[in-house]
Amino acid sequence: MTEPRATTEALAVPDAILVLNAGSSSLKFTVFALGEELSPIVSGLAEELASAARFRARNEAGEVLGEHAWPDGAPGHEGAIAFLFRWLGEHVPDLTVRAVGHRVVHGGATYTAPVRIDADLLAALEALVPLAPLHQPHNLLPIRLVAAKRPDLPQVACFDTAFHRTAPDLAQAFALPAEITARGVRRYGFHGLSYEYIARTLPRIDPRAAAGRTIVLHLGNGASACAMLGGRSIASSMGFTAVDGLMMGTRTGALDPGVVLYLMDEFGMDARAIEDVLYRRSGLLGVSGLSSDMRVLLASDEPAARFAIDLFCYRIVREVGSLAAALGGLDALVFTAGIGENASPIRAKVCAPLAWLGIELDAQANEGRGLRRISTEASRVAVWVVPTDEERMIALHVREVLSL
Ligand code: ADP
Repeated sequence: MTEPRATTEALAVPDAILVLNAGSSSLKFTVFALGEELSPIVSGLAEELASAARFRARNEAGEVLGEHAWPDGAPGHEGAIAFLFRWLGEHVPDLTVRAVGHRVVHGGATYTAPVRIDADLLAALEALVPLAPLHQPHNLLPIRLVAAKRPDLPQVACFDTAFHRTAPDLAQAFALPAEITARGVRRYGFHGLSYEYIARTLPRIDPRAAAGRTIVLHLGNGASACAMLGGRSIASSMGFTAVDGLMMGTRTGALDPGVVLYLMDEFGMDARAIEDVLYRRSGLLGVSGLSSDMRVLLASDEPAARFAIDLFCYRIVREVGSLAAALGGLDALVFTAGIGENASPIRAKVCAPLAWLGIELDAQANEGRGLRRISTEASRVAVWVVPTDEERMIALHVREVLSL
């Protein structure tokens, strides 16, 4: 008699996976209820953690569930995580977080798949900080904070580099002296969780693309392109660091390395000053002199904004040509991330000069929304918009690694 009630009560308490994605001054989170489907219950962001920090949480429908500001100063990641656990406890009272998944930018050459975190792994990931000094420390801090606060909670690290470890040695090599290559100076590639999510989506929507030659364009504030053969990465536009390849919001993308020497010799810049130029003052922001936000540039009549957009698209077209050569042809092209999913004029500007590859855009489909094919029936290459979901990819990994 009591058994059915017990089942109902058990269902009312959602066991969940918490996904954390920490940036230099922000912490994104999503809570996924465990079940046959992983359903997002609540997600949000704590940002500007080093100054005027704000927190906002929304439900799956996008309705704001809670907001908070820290008027008295910077909570840092530590304060934000403490607040998040407290907030979840108060606002989702039946919630049982069973595990935490983290986005970790660098897994080096060793980590080709997500792993459960322990002290040894943390030390190994710490040793990779020089490979991604601007990101890796921010990814590792929340792991330590959660471990201190809730040592009972299993944690899983999911690497942005892992998906690209299937690329052949040729695609991962620089033409550097062997002793420098031996110290880990090679192409790693990034945005791997996004590409993996797309690779897992393709078999359902386009089996030919999933089995064949596909280029995915991840166009957000950070932007990169990945060539996939049968759903596995064989080449990527990003290299040793996430500044290589395509032009981005504030990053240069590929640059003649001679420019770096010139900046040192003629501008008297040191490594930190050059880093500032390469990562924070270039890209759409630097070229336009206006904004790193594609929406602002698309709405602007300024010639410099137009030029920044033209250069952004030109660099993508050049990179697609290069990756199509690496693939030996092309079956599908996929647009994803903030710009890729939402900016129809950018998709049109990228696809038009690629007609020679067999790409023909359906102008009406290009103006639509959500997951869809945007090429004509006659187009030899299928063109898709596939919204990415790195958080879900992390949650899927956590479930797999921990057999939840
Ligand atoms: P991140 O790399 O920080 O995750 P996103 O994937 O959120 O970035 O992408 C941010 C970019 O997407 C910004 O340049 C923003 O202007 C652009 N974007 C978002 N929505 C639109 C839209 N409707 N039209 C054009 N660009 C958009």
